Amino acid sequence: MSGIPEMHDAEPIPEAARAEVDRLFASGDLFRYHGSADSPVTRLEQEFAATLGCRYALAVSSCSAALFLSLKTLGLPRDARVLIPGFTFAAVPSAVLHADCLPVLCEVGSDYRVDLADFEAKIATVSAVIISHMRGHTSDMDAILAIADRHGVPVVEDAAHSLGTTWAGRNIGTLGRIGCFSFQSYKLLNAGEGGLLVTDDAELIARAVIMSGAYETNWKKHGLLTEPFARWQNKLPLYNLRLSNLSAAVIRPQLAELPRRVADGRRNHDHVAARLAETPWFEVPRKLAPEMRAPDSLQFNLVGMSDADVDAFTAAAAEAGVKVQVFGRSADNARAFWNWQFLPEMPELPRTRAMLMRACDTRLPARLTLDQCTAVAEALIGAAEAAMAPARAYGT
Ligand SMILES: *Cc1c(COP(=O)(O)O)cnc(C)c1O
Repeated sequence: MSGIPEMHDAEPIPEAARAEVDRLFASGDLFRYHGSADSPVTRLEQEFAATLGCRYALAVSSCSAALFLSLKTLGLPRDARVLIPGFTFAAVPSAVLHADCLPVLCEVGSDYRVDLADFEAKIATVSAVIISHMRGHTSDMDAILAIADRHGVPVVEDAAHSLGTTWAGRNIGTLGRIGCFSFQSYKLLNAGEGGLLVTDDAELIARAVIMSGAYETNWKKHGLLTEPFARWQNKLPLYNLRLSNLSAAVIRPQLAELPRRVADGRRNHDHVAARLAETPWFEVPRKLAPEMRAPDSLQFNLVGMSDADVDAFTAAAAEAGVKVQVFGRSADNARAFWNWQFLPEMPELPRTRAMLMRACDTRLPARLTLDQCTAVAEALIGAAEAAMAPARAYGT
């Protein structure tokens, strides 16, 4: 329809993955600790750490598993309070509960970033922080790390959907004590499922490796320093959250695609954002100065629209071939905090709620051409004009 492609399709897996998958099929070597020390999973960890510029990486079964393991690795006691943004994916408060901790929600502003005043007001009540860089929107990490440092509170970065984003030239996910990434199909590297955590701390990686399921002395196959592992031998639970060699074989050839996916995603995002910003209906929050984004989707706020106008806009956009969700108005949305009814305590976050009621989300994959992006922008603008036309006619 009108030059707009299907935006939920993933990119094909690079052909190079096939030979490695065939080799694994022939040998049956699917478990990372089954064969030699340099299994595909170990190689992925080494390549990922080198790509990001950090010391250690541990591949696991999902980003949720990485978040859970991060809190366990930090040694948080039962019922420790963990500060998380009020705008994140339901998997994040869930990982906190899974780790026997209590999520405390922080307000998020209309720019999708952690509200620093609320962050500062709550930091003294928590034992750890998880910062979700939602859809790659990076909160002010200089301020967050300074405040957390002052209170001696460790920061875990949920960079599930932020691979390739940099902050003052450093990769997101390498700024806090631990960073977590996802290989679920909607993220930049696609293995269907999978996750990974990174850290520069030898003690933390030893604990995380053992708890991820390096039973007995399988940690020796990670090729890391022996001393911290020997100290934790037999002292930690084994949660068995490992990644399969097959998943690693699917991910590794995609690492080479990363620079292209990041550059094209940013080009597409900035192209559509600039066009939308020329109209009165859309506000596209600006990036923070140190941030270089790697978007594969577009978020913007609707301006001057009632709830009915918002619904008319999303209906008209869908008609024109662009699926837009307004986080707070699509039923059962997993990023609207009031739908996290499993929380022990439901907070009220008026600023976050107001943002969610007008914040739109649409996919904008790196593989789109600029002409296709123009068609997306024009469809969104046409939908806003159609939604607001009755109001304008009424006023004249
Ligand atoms: C996708 C996502 C997760 C969960 O990742 P999984 O690998 O599916 O567990 C967590 N946080 C954010 C911000 C995400 O986008």
